[in-house]
Amino acid sequence: MSFVELGLSDELLKAVTEAGYTEPTPIQAQAIPTIFMGRDVLGCAQTGTGKTAGFTLPMIDILAQGRAKARMPRSLILEPTRELAAQVAESFDKYGKHHKLSKVLLIGGESMGKQIAAMDRGVDVLIATPGRLLDLFDRGRLLLTGVKILVIDEADRMLDMGFIPDVERIVKLLSPIRQTLFFSATMPSEIRKLADAFLMNPKEISVASPSLAAETVEQFMVAVKHGGCSGTQGGMREKRATLRSLLKREDPVSAIIFCNRKRDVDVVARSLKRHGFDAAQLHGDMAQPARMEVLRRFKNSEVKLLVCSDVAARGLDILAVSHVFNFDIPTHSEDYVHRIGRTGRAGRKGRAISISVPEDGKYVAGIERLLGGKIPPLHLDGVVESKIDNSAVAAEQRGPRDRGKQKEEKETQVKSETAAGEVHKRGRRENPEGRNEKTAVGMGGRRENPEGGNEKTAVGMGDHMPAFMQRKVKSLK
Ligand code: AMP
Repeated sequence: MSFVELGLSDELLKAVTEAGYTEPTPIQAQAIPTIFMGRDVLGCAQTGTGKTAGFTLPMIDILAQGRAKARMPRSLILEPTRELAAQVAESFDKYGKHHKLSKVLLIGGESMGKQIAAMDRGVDVLIATPGRLLDLFDRGRLLLTGVKILVIDEADRMLDMGFIPDVERIVKLLSPIRQTLFFSATMPSEIRKLADAFLMNPKEISVASPSLAAETVEQFMVAVKHGGCSGTQGGMREKRATLRSLLKREDPVSAIIFCNRKRDVDVVARSLKRHGFDAAQLHGDMAQPARMEVLRRFKNSEVKLLVCSDVAARGLDILAVSHVFNFDIPTHSEDYVHRIGRTGRAGRKGRAISISVPEDGKYVAGIERLLGGKIPPLHLDGVVESKIDNSAVAAEQRGPRDRGKQKEEKETQVKSETAAGEVHKRGRRENPEGRNEKTAVGMGGRRENPEGGNEKTAVGMGDHMPAFMQRKVKSLK
């Protein structure tokens, strides 16, 4: 199958060739003709499958006919985070460069005045996070009745972040005569119900993740001796020293360093800079222009090391990232998979090295259960290694009383950014602060089951756990 066979215009074919794509990905091959037919789409696909081009390319050709009126966008793309919204906007620039479509990015943290002025000039494509869109709507700055194509992207993350009520409200403001494209990495029953409510006779498209990070990413674990949450001075100091040794040893081309808490992002980045490393930081409390500037510098290889939180790095697609370091072990197994997936992109090799303290035992066990294999240890000179403390896992397996204790422990640990939400039975976390994006947590709606579970089955992942999650990790050497 070639892009020509998909019926794209010459301008788009040129843009696609210039982007270096030779053939459509499976989701593109299925979604593009369906969207051209005017049908709704229910796509089960992750980032990395090429889904953005899957909806952006046909939208550009469809929108090339007709003109935009002031304050009445002709199409609307809803994204859960500012970074994802900005990435989709970049895709529109890349693929739409031979067209004359107008696009506005409506995200929190950026000047509302400029966004309003751009809306007033007429918009073909409006890319927005739900909160900012509703703010502008409530101020009477835009009308949504002219939207002919609606894209709801990353629906399961919207659910995770507590945005679904906003999305429902937005959909009610649109004309029922529209085409709706709905994408989600997983299809738990909440998401399916939403899809049923929003879509009319959709074509269902489901594609596997193109690359399990674990297949292209070599993973290692360095266990350091000092325990205590990463916040305690001893543990932090030792972990920082370990990180420096790792950076010297690995000499990454470009690396992302994950911390569980925003305040530790700050501490680790400052410490690295003090020791002469080329580092920048990215977390949800930074002003949007500063976040964008850091991302720009990192993407352009102007800075080598990016220290960040899960939320800030969600969905980042930067090919040059050779290494991921987990300064903290994520408390949710699935975040581990998302974190290490920032390297080893598009078939390249990557290395992911995690630093654990004895108290991380139960989290490491959860991750290894999800991966279906042990993460090999990495022995570093000068690092006093310790055994992983599995007593917490054992307590979980023993019974409900210990589990209660575990839960308490978890709840005290998760006050800050990584786990501000509640862990639901289904694995869903809600953002207690409604649609405030800054406090949004985690990478997806699929959570490890804190109740344990057997070795092979990763649980709490929604009804449709992606197949790649169920595969054994091929190479952990
Ligand atoms: P997405 O899943 O939309 O986040 O896309 C993941 C990555 O795949 C992006 O870096 C795109 O530039 C890239 N990509 C999208 N379509 C193609 C294609 N047909 N061939 C090669 N790369 C692609």
